[in-house]
Amino acid sequence: MRHIAIVGAGLIGRSWAIVFARAGCAVALYDGVDGQAARARTIIANELSELQAQGMVTNAADLLARIRVSTSLADALAGVEFVQECTPEILETKRAIFAELDRLATQDAILASSTSGIVASRFTEQLAGRARCLVAHPVNPPHLVPLVELAGAPWTSAQMLERAKALYIEVGQVPIIVRAEIDGFILNRLQAALLTEAFRLVGRGYVSPEDLDKTVKDGLGLRWAFMGPFETIELNAPAGIPDYCARYGLTLANLSGAPAETYGGQNLAAVMAQWPALRDTQAVAAKMLWRDRQLAALRRHKHEQAAKGETA
Ligand code: NAD
Repeated sequence: MRHIAIVGAGLIGRSWAIVFARAGCAVALYDGVDGQAARARTIIANELSELQAQGMVTNAADLLARIRVSTSLADALAGVEFVQECTPEILETKRAIFAELDRLATQDAILASSTSGIVASRFTEQLAGRARCLVAHPVNPPHLVPLVELAGAPWTSAQMLERAKALYIEVGQVPIIVRAEIDGFILNRLQAALLTEAFRLVGRGYVSPEDLDKTVKDGLGLRWAFMGPFETIELNAPAGIPDYCARYGLTLANLSGAPAETYGGQNLAAVMAQWPALRDTQAVAAKMLWRDRQLAALRRHKHEQAAKGETA
């Protein structure tokens, strides 16, 4: 059984506890505020019951039994191989807690921060064990949204990143690697591009906020539930991504106020050098059929939810 410590038992810490307990790990839950970890465990108990009612877990009581409350950081860290830090998004807090984690955790334990936007080099530089520190940024709530962005500092060891990646896969998450430190990592940069444009469009009177939301949830977002933007555009031009870029790249770059070569040159070369392009027109046709089946299933799911009165 793997032993994991969650440090900071707020919104994100609680959800991580479910992720690890659900995967069979023993979880120690610690919070700097007296009584907070115990309160968090009670909330987790309710969340597990809700998940059981949804058919997402079958053994809520067993899962809860794997989560114990620690009243000291040293107790929480005793014998753990992995620490998921979930304290508030304040640089000084991250610096202080990582210094403590590095001092108290066993030498080969991985120290992963849930930070939404502080790159690891800003709070790990001075640490003796800085090679084992990294960012593991989840999406709220991680027990239902599996993506986790792994971002090391320049001194994070490749082996630690690989171990972290393997562990997240093992517990059912979907890790991606951010190859160099960048503010906002990947998800929030994508989100920022979309939200910035959404605010501009509403602010300048082109569309209502409700209609803008429909554009995503009844338009773009339907495909995005099972395909990424590169998979999407590969199916939107007969000869795949380069063809799409040749047809629409300049228009899209202009719409975004981006340089004309954004969809060509080095960028396109980098995409294609790493992209497992569909082989031929047969493969494209098969993937289109798959896409349409996924869309149909998703539409059915949305209709069923609406019919049950499950509206927000
Ligand atoms: P939160 O305020 O709900 O929880 C933080 C918890 O940390 C609190 O219970 C607090 O008592 C505890 N804490 C404070 N100082 C501590 C210390 N020194 N030692 C131990 N515990 C301490 O915050 P949250 O939303 O759970 O966010 C936690 C981290 O996760 C942040 O870095 C945040 O950026 C990141 N994150 C949040 C979201 C989100 O949507 N909320 C999404 C992804 C990542």
